[in-house]
Amino acid sequence: MKKAIFLDRDGTIIIDKNYLNDPGQIEYVPHIFEAFKLWQESGFCFVVITNQSGIHKGIVQEENVAKIHQKIAHRFLDNQTPILEFYYAPHAADSDHPMRKPNPGMLLEAAKKYKIDLTQSWMVGDKMSDVEAGHRAGCRSILYTYQSKEDGTHSSYIPAEILSDDILLAAQKSVSI
Ligand SMILES: [Mg+2]
Repeated sequence: MKKAIFLDRDGTIIIDKNYLNDPGQIEYVPHIFEAFKLWQESGFCFVVITNQSGIHKGIVQEENVAKIHQKIAHRFLDNQTPILEFYYAPHAADSDHPMRKPNPGMLLEAAKKYKIDLTQSWMVGDKMSDVEAGHRAGCRSILYTYQSKEDGTHSSYIPAEILSDDILLAAQKSVSI
């Protein structure tokens, strides 16, 4: 079975531009490519797991989401750390749909499709809803606080196993425990 790094998109792989709808606005967080290299050397594959409620709101178009994901996919292919698939949940922000984080539906679907061992996998995100989605799927979680500054202390969810504002440091910790 494979083991995976599941990653949130906005605020985790790229800077959160608040309902990004333009591929030209993609801006990567510091050290993300080195972090992917490190995870890959430790045998992990990569899946993106993103809530996109802007689609439900009508301020983000699905064809632009596809273009944005294609552009990110190419960049990580250039880095020789390919992303297996991009999953996105288009539902409303107040929806409790099983595919919308903190629910684990997207992770479970990816695990089934790619035969991923969830107990050996990690969910990385900048919000406690990412951390919780990882835990509900049976993974361990990283709370990455470079942009969000969220420290998890005001959340009713179980804290992340790793908390860091540096994605490379978080990757180093995750491969050593
Ligand atoms: Mg995010």
